[in-house]
Amino acid sequence: MGGIRQEIRRMSQQGPRIFCLAMVDAVERVSPGFVRVALRGHGLAAYGEVMPADAVKVLLHPDGRADVDEPQWDDDGTPTWPAPARSPLPRALTVRSFNPARLRLELDAMVHDGGLLRTWLDAAKPGAVVGVMGVRRDFYPGDGVTEHLLLADSSALPAVATIVESLPPGLPATVFLAVDHEEDKALLPARPGVEVHWVAGGSPSGRDSALTRAVRELARPVSPGGRVQAWIAAEAGVVRSLRRWALAEHGVAVEDLHATAYWKAGLDGAARDAADLARYQKELAAGGDPFDPGLRERVELEA
Ligand SMILES: Cc1cc2nc3c(=O)[nH]c(=O)nc-3n(C[C@H](O)[C@H](O)[C@H](O)COP(=O)(O)OP(=O)(O)OC[C@H]3O[C@@H](n4cnc5c(N)ncnc54)[C@H](O)[C@@H]3O)c2cc1C
Repeated sequence: MGGIRQEIRRMSQQGPRIFCLAMVDAVERVSPGFVRVALRGHGLAAYGEVMPADAVKVLLHPDGRADVDEPQWDDDGTPTWPAPARSPLPRALTVRSFNPARLRLELDAMVHDGGLLRTWLDAAKPGAVVGVMGVRRDFYPGDGVTEHLLLADSSALPAVATIVESLPPGLPATVFLAVDHEEDKALLPARPGVEVHWVAGGSPSGRDSALTRAVRELARPVSPGGRVQAWIAAEAGVVRSLRRWALAEHGVAVEDLHATAYWKAGLDGAARDAADLARYQKELAAGGDPFDPGLRERVELEA
């Protein structure tokens, strides 16, 4: 057992691998800024152990209509959609909870203007069918860590909620979280030892955001001489500046840091995936390990 990077690499190598259709069981507005979607499907039986900040890709009809087309399945269980123009498009969402007995997955989607997800959320009703692909592992509490620092925008509130729930009671954690609505704050569970700084505006972007300024101004190590693990998820430009700050000014060691671009300003999911894929292919051609979180960081955070 080791640090967050080493463990994410190990967990990513080991799976689980899900590629299935699932049916919408419920769609519920849980706060002004979030819609909770519950999905059920036999293919979710492959999930196994749930880790904090796990994420899946939900495959949606490219027009945002409620149902994806019926795919053809090949012998190894991979679906293909016969009409390329109607092939579903993926959107990453955190697994807020999973009930293995009911094969039921809950995902909290942040509501923002525009985007395929929003169009789909407006159309989705119980019984609608989507694809589910994953699982991506994104968090591990490093051995010997004395405090956690979680820096995130609203799109990563569900992930931060799962991380906070997983921390041993009393282990110090400092959270900086950007949200749009007062009521969204209730989606983050309270835990002894966890101090939360709320920042107004759920989708900060770029190098100089309110989230970055709040962190630079207020974040102080809780246990001087201790070992801080930092987890950062937000828009790519915000993540780049927070990552730099954590390493250069907050004394976080690179092996104790995990930084993920949850979205990129000005790019929709398809444009972002296309740009990332080209970089992945370059990294793999140079002998890179696809499970290495460092490689993923380079791919996702390149400007
Ligand atoms: C591992 C992982 C886990 C994630 N978990 C969650 C989650 O649990 N809940 C959640 O809501 N999101 C989550 N996200 C982020 C989500 O996948 C992206 O925000 C995604 O682009 C949303 O798709 P969309 O269809 O709404 O917008 P898109 O069609 O992809 O983009 C349309 C436009 O909206 C902009 N945009 C995209 N996201 C945002 C945003 N958050 N705020 C403001 N503008 C935005 C884009 O730059 C683009 O200009 C996660 C991302 C990753 C990588």
